[in-house]
Amino acid sequence: MHDATNRGEAVQADANEATSVERERHEHRLMWALLGAFVVLAALVMGAWMLARAGIPANVGDPLEGEAKAEAIANNSPLTDYVHLTQNADFPRTDNIKKITIHHMAGDLTLEDVGDKFARRDSQVSSNYAIDSEGRVALYVEEANRAWTSNNRANDEEAVTIEVANDELYDDWHVSDAAFDKLVELCADICKRNGIERLEFSEDGSGNLNYHQMLDSSTECPGPYLIGKMGELASRVNEVLANG
Ligand SMILES: [Zn+2]
Repeated sequence: MHDATNRGEAVQADANEATSVERERHEHRLMWALLGAFVVLAALVMGAWMLARAGIPANVGDPLEGEAKAEAIANNSPLTDYVHLTQNADFPRTDNIKKITIHHMAGDLTLEDVGDKFARRDSQVSSNYAIDSEGRVALYVEEANRAWTSNNRANDEEAVTIEVANDELYDDWHVSDAAFDKLVELCADICKRNGIERLEFSEDGSGNLNYHQMLDSSTECPGPYLIGKMGELASRVNEVLANG
């Protein structure tokens, strides 16, 4: 009886030990499985991040100063005063530059404010250039890349897009003479550097100068004032181009 009890306890102890070894093994397996899953997940996240960053140039993110700014301006319009390149773009554009698309800011924003807005990934918008009411020019997406401006991918693959500040809000969406004069200069410069001999504007969209609303009927952009000046813009640019 005594012996039997002892034996019984021994068997029970062995069984307990076996269970605890088994549990330990199970915990080890679980730990390794979790670790493995973590490594795989980390690799996936890393891969996705690298894929998202792929092709985004190093000069994109913050306002540029000094040499980096000078280099960006050298590859784009020399009329540029301010450079803040955004990741909201495709690098590089897939088409050659063949046209110019005009937009307005729907506000009298500074170039810095526009740059901050375009810098936010969730804004999902950008333009190649902007002009403020004093006639200063900003570069946000280099001409080699496609800006996200016109809600029309095919257009923006072959267009340089320009946002112009409004010095009066609503109704006519007026722009200052300084901004419009600089728009003429900037368009002429873009044409010269990209081998566009003339700018043609036509309401049917057949020309190489157009505006946002022609591509997206849901917007008022760039407003009645600039829409009314498209013909004048084309003829003033052509005058500059004809005079070399
Ligand atoms: Zn627009």
